[in-house]
Amino acid sequence: MKIVVDWDLCEGHGQCEFAAPDVFQIGDDGNLQFNETPDESERSNVEQAVRRCPTRALTLLED
Ligand code: SF4
Repeated sequence: MKIVVDWDLCEGHGQCEFAAPDVFQIGDDGNLQFNETPDESERSNVEQAVRRCPTRALTLLED
């Protein structure tokens, strides 16, 4: 799987970090950092992050 972030939409709320803390982190600068191609074991957490993102900035692609 591959995660794509629409940077025009992301507002750094951190809901994704809450759902999948090993994949998404809000840095000290307030910007989102994330693992673009997380392990399959993170799938349910990542799906939850996609659902929780208030601005719908996250998309999950299959590779
Ligand atoms: S929850 Fe959405 S808007 Fe907030 S930091 Fe994550 S991707 Fe960005």
